[in-house]
Amino acid sequence: MQERQTKQKQIIYEALRTLNHPTATEVYGYVHDAYPTVSRATVFRVLGGFAGSGRALELRSAGSEVRYDYNVEPHCHGRCTVCGRLSDVEVEGLPKNGVKATACDGFEVQSYALEFFGVCMNCKDGANA
Ligand SMILES: [Zn+2]
Ligand SMILES: [Zn+2]
Repeated sequence: MQERQTKQKQIIYEALRTLNHPTATEVYGYVHDAYPTVSRATVFRVLGGFAGSGRALELRSAGSEVRYDYNVEPHCHGRCTVCGRLSDVEVEGLPKNGVKATACDGFEVQSYALEFFGVCMNCKDGANA
């Protein structure tokens, strides 16, 4: 049983690396094609576990599904305004040590995330076709 769980985790982690910032549903679809025995509940649980243990980032944004990222280094994302996909973006001019935020209303700042908006390659291609 333990061995099977480890295997399932490996498969799900591989899917996470292969797919670009997938939602749990996308990971499930990918995994399920190759391994029909892996349940949807397992995929959701394992992804949540990765996020909890710091193996993956859980990317939340208001109004859209949670996406997962195996790259846990601090980096910025661009969100496609057409399909909602996330891509990594390189940003020049950001201070290496982060920016200083001053708390207001007793809010304690723990981290920050920057999101850029645009149109992904797929959607751009589709528009030109
Ligand atoms: Zn798109
Ligand atoms: Zn990313």
